[in-house]
Amino acid sequence: MFKVFDFKCDKGHVTEKMVDANTSSIPCPECGELATKQLAAPMSVLEGVSGAFPGAAMKWDKAHSARLP
Ligand SMILES: [Zn+2]
Repeated sequence: MFKVFDFKCDKGHVTEKMVDANTSSIPCPECGELATKQLAAPMSVLEGVSGAFPGAAMKWDKAHSARLP
């Protein structure tokens, strides 16, 4: 499953990239250093579970409802 994650290298470059959820690091496009996945990436916490983000919650519900028979 592909999602958007933030990656940050040792030099502080932050890169937003859509990768497989299993990917934990990528080469930084700015300097070539290894950029590691940031666990607190905004896109990954908006799962719509907390209800603090109504828009995200509605989107989540809609996406999952669409998979029902
Ligand atoms: Zn870099």
